Amino acid sequence: MWDLGRTMLASVEREPDALAVVDGDLRLTYRQWFERMARVVGAFDRFGLRRGDRLLMVLQNRWEMATLHWACQLAGVVASPVNWRVKSEELDYYVTNAGAAAIAFEPVSEAAVAGSREAGRLRRIGVGAAAGATVAFEELCREVAASELPRARAEDLSLMFYTSGTTGQPKGVPRTHAAERAAALAHVAQNCYRFGERTLGVMPLYHTMGVRSLLAMALLNGVFICVARFEPAPALELIARERVTNLYLVPTLYHDLLAYEGFSRADVSPVRKVGFAGAPMTDALVQRVAQAFKPELFVNHYGSTEIYTFTVNQQAAEKPGSAGKAGINQRVRVVRIGPADPEAVVAAGQEGEIIADLSGEESFAAYWQRPEADARAIRGNWYFTGDTGHFDADGDLFVTGRVDDMIITGGENVMPVEVESVLSLHPAVDEVAVAGLPDERWGQRVTAFVKPRAPVDAQALDAHCRNSRLANFKRPREYVFVKAVPKSPVGKILRRLLVSGDYERLAQPGNRRQSS
Ligand code: AMP
Repeated sequence: MWDLGRTMLASVEREPDALAVVDGDLRLTYRQWFERMARVVGAFDRFGLRRGDRLLMVLQNRWEMATLHWACQLAGVVASPVNWRVKSEELDYYVTNAGAAAIAFEPVSEAAVAGSREAGRLRRIGVGAAAGATVAFEELCREVAASELPRARAEDLSLMFYTSGTTGQPKGVPRTHAAERAAALAHVAQNCYRFGERTLGVMPLYHTMGVRSLLAMALLNGVFICVARFEPAPALELIARERVTNLYLVPTLYHDLLAYEGFSRADVSPVRKVGFAGAPMTDALVQRVAQAFKPELFVNHYGSTEIYTFTVNQQAAEKPGSAGKAGINQRVRVVRIGPADPEAVVAAGQEGEIIADLSGEESFAAYWQRPEADARAIRGNWYFTGDTGHFDADGDLFVTGRVDDMIITGGENVMPVEVESVLSLHPAVDEVAVAGLPDERWGQRVTAFVKPRAPVDAQALDAHCRNSRLANFKRPREYVFVKAVPKSPVGKILRRLLVSGDYERLAQPGNRRQSS
């Protein structure tokens, strides 16, 4: 397997004058972009930032961040991107945990950097008009271009993501060039991408989905169109202006695009391939996305930061809710929850924990200096996802929630995603999340948190569930009408905030409990 630097070089040689990256008015071809990357590596050399060193990046999706990512790949420096909303204390943790040699930041993250003692000891690359930098990104671009590129080997680390569970400090997920390249190649194949694709670079480059889009476009001499912050109106304008051919987004962003009042006037006809990952998409949203884009291909991609692909369903509209079958580089199983035994496989139709083969080419090897996290997630050659799900009779996987979010009510297991999908089909429901609240009688009470798009009450929603495929014990016994469903910056429903009461209720008479 090649390293990623060589991958970029191959694309520069294949199509030097093809457009590579767009950010506002800035447009660079592969040749022009590579020249900037080589100068940035020249600056790394002058600073003494060497192969194997970690560069922490606290940046939004802008061309400078994409350039730094690629410069790292060419130099063998390990890109360590973190969420730009980071606080100073968290930054102290990241700098120390990654053993960072330098940090790159911009105005949105300058306060966090200024407040971080650990970041204060590092060389600080300022992007844009960031205050507190020791060197400006523009100066890097004026250095003499480095020679002898690329420098990394396939088995070297390409990057280190951070993934945060609900408890404890974020875990470093180190990934090699080989794993990153294999994941990007599989992404190209599984999404049927062609040479010259154009994608909206809106999923954060500190998350696996953003980096996958970046690498997949480079493999194909495609175009990465930077979007620093998602807003439906400018995103739709970019789709039309830049003739975006594919979208790979979390379900929330599709929801927000479709909810925008100007969507019906927007020209989304260039988008032929639509994919989602990161969270399940409700049945209602699947239908609406299919209707709105009429795509050639609609892919449900189920994966994670650690492994990349678990499964793919290339017919997301035909079988909504199904995550399909194992990806090109993967094997998946559903096993009994509890014993952490990869051989305790359950029958089709039965719920269990989803596990994936760790020896695939896309996978990480272990968390960064976290043996206790390795011990929890890895058994033999298998990675325990912490997700619940089941196979249907066709061997297609359905992801139904997190093991920790499973509701046990009156001794029966209820998977939140199934209830959410049924409720999503009610026309007055805009968004919905289901969680278990403590209940004296039931142990946990199935509770639906609904953001309505039209006036509706609990009785109407209960009637909808009674007339659906949902078994009686799965019916929500309480409805709470909320202003918004709490989500993480990458679109995952934060059910623990619903359980702890950290949400805003809508003043609505419909907030009430149901009888059983
Ligand atoms: P991350 O590491 O941030 O990509 O999160 C991985 C987790 O996101 C998985 O373990 C699932 O819980 C969830 N996830 C990712 N893709 C999907 C999908 N297509 N359907 C359902 N859940 C998903």
